Amino acid sequence: MRVSFPTMGDYWVFTKAIFDKLASELVVPPPVSQRTLTLGVKYSPEGACLPFKITLGSMIEALELGADTIIMPGNYGPCRFGYYHRLQEEILRDLGYKFQMINESMGIRRMAASIFKGSRLSEFLPGLIFSLAKLKLLDELPHTLYRIRAIEQEVGSATRIYKDTLKPLDKAKSYRELRQVKKEYLKKLGSIPTRSSDGVVKVGITGEIYVVLEPFANMEIEIELGKLGVEVRRPISLWEFVSNFNPLVIAFGLGERRRCYRAARPYLSCHIGGDGWQSVGEKVLHAKDWHGMVHLEPFGCLPETVARNIMSKTKEELPVLNLIYDEHTGKAGVISRLEAFVDMIRRQKRKPAEGKRSNLTGGRAHGSLSRH
Ligand code: SF4
Repeated sequence: MRVSFPTMGDYWVFTKAIFDKLASELVVPPPVSQRTLTLGVKYSPEGACLPFKITLGSMIEALELGADTIIMPGNYGPCRFGYYHRLQEEILRDLGYKFQMINESMGIRRMAASIFKGSRLSEFLPGLIFSLAKLKLLDELPHTLYRIRAIEQEVGSATRIYKDTLKPLDKAKSYRELRQVKKEYLKKLGSIPTRSSDGVVKVGITGEIYVVLEPFANMEIEIELGKLGVEVRRPISLWEFVSNFNPLVIAFGLGERRRCYRAARPYLSCHIGGDGWQSVGEKVLHAKDWHGMVHLEPFGCLPETVARNIMSKTKEELPVLNLIYDEHTGKAGVISRLEAFVDMIRRQKRKPAEGKRSNLTGGRAHGSLSRH
């Protein structure tokens, strides 16, 4: 069995670690690129949201590399994600690809049986725990990166170190090696010449999880904010998502997601699908410790559209820039909006009494199909 999955940011490191101990071979799709998007747009319904199009393109690229099985999360849900896999499967079959699709709608037992076929549980379980340790590290590494990126003298040095660290992280086979990777990474980041941190502003990123976590989809927003001297805060991560299934986190109501749910409760009486509830909660929760927030919303995404409209009405004040993404969004437009937003935050910081309440609805940054 040659298994693959649609790619999302740097999480291929985690997935590779899981498959290390499985009998099936893993086909890692190429990083998301303009080609991935073009393929996805070509074969998707026009009204589908951006994550649908990109993941479809990524599946096509995996099938081209010889994958015969695709894992795609999805089962039911109050947003379109619940039926993504059904539609994507039909589109791929119409295109002539022969493969099997694995997802939760098959039932957890059948799904597990398909993935673990021929693997030994005694090897897989320690492997799974080790892959979770890699996932946790993938969540931790960016935090220092965000801090240094905002004050580095040579733009791009911190990003280079981060990207160079992914290879040893992928190759690490023991906990000792993982600790070593982290130590080396922090040492290298610590040696970067930096400027004074005066004038650094803290901006949180929230919104729909795929667009938040896939740099191509969000046009490398973290890097662009770093160039503007912004220290990014991004509570959403795959580790954060997975930790929500930890019984201790559930029992004690811990975790960012649950904190957000509690914070957003005065404004929401029911789940609005996707990550909408969390988006509202992040604003309420971080109104005091962030200087601003960028809200990433795929065009036509109902949960985030609802969240955007509620966010502008909360009593907790925090400037929010809404950016709406689809395949027509141009990077130049996104950068201009970010520049104006950061400039506004800095002015507000200097004159805190002046026009504190602000919610900049970004609209769609129409432009060329290319993201450069
Ligand atoms: S949350 Fe929004 S963008 Fe994500 S799958 Fe649902 S509708 Fe699409």
